[in-house]
Amino acid sequence: MQGKKQIDIALAGNPNSGKTTLFNALTGSRQHVGNYPGITVEQKEGYAQANDHTLHFIDLPGTYSLTAYSQEELVARNFLAEHTPHMVVDVVNAGALERNLYLAVQIMELGIPLILALNMMDEVRAKGQTINTELLARRLGGPVVETVARQGLGRNLLKQKILATASSENVRREPLNISYGPDLDPVIQRMIQKMEGREFFTSTFPPRWVALKYLEGDEEVRAKGLSQNRELALELEEEAARVAEHCQKTLNTYPEAIIADYRYGYISSLLKDVISRDTHRERLEFSDRLDRILTHRFLGPAIMIMILYGVYKATFWLGEAPMGWLEAFFDWLKINLAAILPDGLLQSLVISGIIDGVGGVLGFVPLIAVMFLCISFLEDSGYMARVAYMLDRVFRIFGLHGCSVMPFIISGGIAGGCAVPGIMSTRTLRSRKEKLATMLTAPFMTCGAKLPVFLLLAGVFFPRHQASVLFLISLTGWLFALLVSRILRWTVIRGPSTPFVMELPPYRLPTSGGILIHTWERAWEYIKKAGTVILAISILLWAAMTFPRLPQDAVQPFEKRIVRVQTRQDTGAVSPDKAEDRMQKIEKELGQAKLRYSLAGRMGTALEPVTKLAGFDWKMNISLIGGFAAKEVIISTLGTAYSLGQTPEEGQPSLARKIAADPQWDAKKAISAILFILLYAPCFVSVVVIARESGSWGWAGFSMVFNTAVAFFIAAGVYQTLLLF
Ligand code: GDP
Ligand code: MG
Repeated sequence: MQGKKQIDIALAGNPNSGKTTLFNALTGSRQHVGNYPGITVEQKEGYAQANDHTLHFIDLPGTYSLTAYSQEELVARNFLAEHTPHMVVDVVNAGALERNLYLAVQIMELGIPLILALNMMDEVRAKGQTINTELLARRLGGPVVETVARQGLGRNLLKQKILATASSENVRREPLNISYGPDLDPVIQRMIQKMEGREFFTSTFPPRWVALKYLEGDEEVRAKGLSQNRELALELEEEAARVAEHCQKTLNTYPEAIIADYRYGYISSLLKDVISRDTHRERLEFSDRLDRILTHRFLGPAIMIMILYGVYKATFWLGEAPMGWLEAFFDWLKINLAAILPDGLLQSLVISGIIDGVGGVLGFVPLIAVMFLCISFLEDSGYMARVAYMLDRVFRIFGLHGCSVMPFIISGGIAGGCAVPGIMSTRTLRSRKEKLATMLTAPFMTCGAKLPVFLLLAGVFFPRHQASVLFLISLTGWLFALLVSRILRWTVIRGPSTPFVMELPPYRLPTSGGILIHTWERAWEYIKKAGTVILAISILLWAAMTFPRLPQDAVQPFEKRIVRVQTRQDTGAVSPDKAEDRMQKIEKELGQAKLRYSLAGRMGTALEPVTKLAGFDWKMNISLIGGFAAKEVIISTLGTAYSLGQTPEEGQPSLARKIAADPQWDAKKAISAILFILLYAPCFVSVVVIARESGSWGWAGFSMVFNTAVAFFIAAGVYQTLLLF
């Protein structure tokens, strides 16, 4: 102290903010514990040397505010007012900045230079938060130092800031001037004017602060005021009473509460963007806790099954209505075009070739969009990664990867999917070989287009076990997907499994924008295909089933028969109903003859000797050839081939009856057909997507040939075995 410049520093702060700990860290053992004069509130003083200065610290009692509610608050504020320390170091619990700054604001209103010590920064960091101290310092107009008092961290920086503040000219010494709103501001202004030029608290408190104390109804200030200048004090009290009444009437609150509100408002503007959460760490913690349930050894798979089943249900539930609208739209289009276009090749091309083909594919857009919506949600939220993680151990056995599960499920692992989005979803697989194996076997699943055929055949031949048969079919799809991929991985796509290195990303709430974009991207790709590839295929298939056309001399007998029926009806030999019936029958026969004569029909007939092994005749063959384009075609072609002609929607029961009545069909052939349809070549869109996703038409061709070979081998094998019994 001798010769050295002494700097008086008051340590203020809320109780338990670490003031005493910081005090000890700053002063070492050189401290003096006494009591504040007259009361038993402990007062500690201590010294520290810094450069050529002596730092004199006074540990104020812990307070939340500088009102006159408690002895501690009185002691603290009177010390600040009467001893006028050079500066205040406000020790705040950085983990509760907002509440702690309430005191700081009041110290600033007193006009004492302030240094903010953000204490307990260790806890803040552990919570994953960061505080932008520079920004806060700029807003406060004074230094802000991060400290961990318990470890003595930050105390040297704090001392430097104390020295700098003591020697600095541009440290805030003006009392902070916060606006208290339209009700209080004018009154405060008037009160300040009244105090101006008078000896009233001038040596201790700034006039604005005194005015605020009057508004707050501070007993101590009022008493002191009366003793200093009774007349002025009464005027101020009257002003305060008037505004209090006004506030009570208009806002139903006290000036004190308004003052607190504005102070907190000021604090929150001070703190805007100052505290940033390290959301990464928080999310990690949250994720870990969530994963303890979602990837739990037993709970995990159970929840997974429920979620995947939910996705499947939601897809069909939400997609059903818009799918119906699209279907209705295409029906409407067909009816109207049929009315406009003349009968003949053009009408047939437009309706059977283009609209049936493209419309059939576009009809699936709602389903696919909803499916992708759900999948995008599961992916963006991070859950898909968990599903893959849980199933990886099982899939590894079959040379696949945990990420193979979703392509399988989407493709129809839960009956009713679609291999097109399923194959597209193999993009999540990083290993090319596992991706190929997944993509080649995913079409074995029971997609929505195969479902009607299975329903039909199961209904006819296993009427009492329809659900079980469908379930068995689904299981068979899985079985073959896994077995065949095991075989592929041993042979043509040999290679080691890649370890499951995928990081489990932290869960996050997906943004609706992100999900919609992901969904749209995928749905759009599908729509584009319907407009290009499918259009071409539909026209080709239509042509194959139309050309070469039955020669006129082969058509004539049918026409003659129709004319005969016509005349017999005209002469009354048969009733109109019966005549209509007969004419329809003749037309169906004509259709069948035309079909048999067409390229597709000839192919069907040519294949018969081979397909007999599996129990398929030429009509079945045509349907199956149609199924190369799209599995939906199987049932409609079957209808035409059986000269039934009804569209599957309206004709299923009777188509089923006809098949049941056909001596050509039996349960053994049905089983063989089901197996073949389940396993044979992916539909043409799937093949195109396989080409796109694998980057090679070679693999696309392989999928057609290989899958058909597997299917035929299995179907024929099972059929021949069944024939033995
Ligand atoms: P005061 O009431 O403001 O004087 O607070 P104290 O100095 O008595 O400290 C209150 C509690 O906070 C004590 O248990 C201290 O050990 C603890 N403490 C003080 N500073 C820190 C700090 O920087 N980090 C942590 N984690 N705890 C602290
Ligand atoms: Mg203490």
